[in-house]
Amino acid sequence: MLHELHPALGEATAKFIRAGHQLLIDGRWQAALSGKTFDVQDPATGAVIACVARGEAADIDLAVAASRRALETGDWPKLKPADRARLLMRLADLIEKHGDELAELEVMDNGKPLAFAKRGIAGTAEMVRYMAGWATKLTGESVPVSVPGEWHAYTMREPVGVVGQIIPWNFPLSMAVWKLAPALAAGCTIVLKPAEQTPLNALRLGALIMEAGFPDGVVNVVTGFGNEAGAALAAHPGVDKVAFTGSTATGKRIVQAALGNLKKVTLELGGKSPVFVFPDANFDHATTGVANAIFFNSGQVCSAGSRLYVHRKVFDNVVADVAALGDKMALGHGMDAGSQLGPLISRVQMERVNRYIDGGLEAGAERASPRRSTPSGDGFFVPPTVLAHTSRDMSVVREEIFGPVLCAMPFDDDDLDQLAGLANDSEFGLFAGIWTSDLRLAHRFAKRIKAGSVSVNAHMVNEPALPFGGYKQSGWGRERGREAIELYSELKSVAINLGV
Ligand code: NAP
Ligand code: MG
Repeated sequence: MLHELHPALGEATAKFIRAGHQLLIDGRWQAALSGKTFDVQDPATGAVIACVARGEAADIDLAVAASRRALETGDWPKLKPADRARLLMRLADLIEKHGDELAELEVMDNGKPLAFAKRGIAGTAEMVRYMAGWATKLTGESVPVSVPGEWHAYTMREPVGVVGQIIPWNFPLSMAVWKLAPALAAGCTIVLKPAEQTPLNALRLGALIMEAGFPDGVVNVVTGFGNEAGAALAAHPGVDKVAFTGSTATGKRIVQAALGNLKKVTLELGGKSPVFVFPDANFDHATTGVANAIFFNSGQVCSAGSRLYVHRKVFDNVVADVAALGDKMALGHGMDAGSQLGPLISRVQMERVNRYIDGGLEAGAERASPRRSTPSGDGFFVPPTVLAHTSRDMSVVREEIFGPVLCAMPFDDDDLDQLAGLANDSEFGLFAGIWTSDLRLAHRFAKRIKAGSVSVNAHMVNEPALPFGGYKQSGWGRERGREAIELYSELKSVAINLGV
């Protein structure tokens, strides 16, 4: 039994949600071979809104075979780089054309407020265009060699091959596009496995990819569960590379599954990103930035600024202001006008986050946010929560919570090596934020931080040209930027003996 949909949804969105959802394999929509399906919930109400095919290992086999055919035969390998760029540009236009529908699907799938989902559409289309530009610029070089004789030697880049892509539920559309766009620009073919909680936008995107004119089998979308479809894809001997975004624990499983054929692996994993506020920072700018860094998307962001270090001189004021900003955020259904904070993705996630908050308080942290009630009904809401006077050994400070929970700690030191010790006191190394008006300090500190990205007086810059990825257990490889497309290629060197 499917529940009523939110009345503010557009007609196209409602129609799509209600359609029977099948797997996209070889350019055709088809049911899972087993005939099984699974339910999709609206996280703001807990109601079942859609039913989706439950792909398993046998469906992954079909999708990988279709990808292999598309890689080696038919039109795709014959396309010129400029043709691939043109297809991607067409896809970007289609994403914008259907932007309202995609944004609404994102709300119904993931729960985020509509205004944020809409903002995400523009960034998603720009990512596709940025990667389209690289399709014609993925060059090798000529290499002067020193061995005896007369030589012509050069390198060239070729598509890595059939790629398995496994993505999480926090940004269902942009995570799909961050993965698909560079792989397509490089000439790969793909089997995409979206998160079980958020399959709808990946399916809609699959339809737009076909509409853009990509040949059959270039992009296949297999919805299903991680331990079924996901595990089969990661282990598949016919897959040349697996690209994964999600938790560090699952990332390690992916690495193990990839051992069989030593497929290439890139991982974008968890974080516990530190944010430092120095006493000379612009106060309003910094507190707003700190609040957004943790509360945006209800804290379900791999680069969320979840460890806050504030100079003791301004600690109380900053913490009080950030807590007040969180307290003012309107919780509600993402389709309700005025909602600023949606639910978490699932009951499991809500319970997990609440356990962390309780555990932190039991371990001695102080609640700096007032207690507040959540919207009535069965949605998975957790209000913004600031925990003050946390310490380095608490699990709230060490582990990725993936919810709107900020751990605040004061610092006295001006010694940057000591402060870097705090920043780097984590198994993760994805991101760090620095708020100061002293640019010399900012440069010196950024250099000492072991993280893939550092922002100064901003939190996360959603820029396709800037590489993004992790040091330490936050991952392998980079997304965005030139590095992303290079990681979907193999480098070949060719040496020609001109002396014979
Ligand atoms: P997850 O297990 O890492 O899920 C991410 C993706 O991997 C999903 O598509 C998932 O499928 C799939 N998957 C799960 N097990 C797999 C396996 N054995 N082989 C191949 N694929 C597999 O994350 P989660 O369970 O949804 O969330 C748990 C925690 O992970 C969160 O609380 C959060 O701390 C963290 N997380 C981090 C990020 C990030 O970007 N850093 C994103 C999401 C979650 P299913 O959807 O079917 O499980
Ligand atoms: Mg999971």
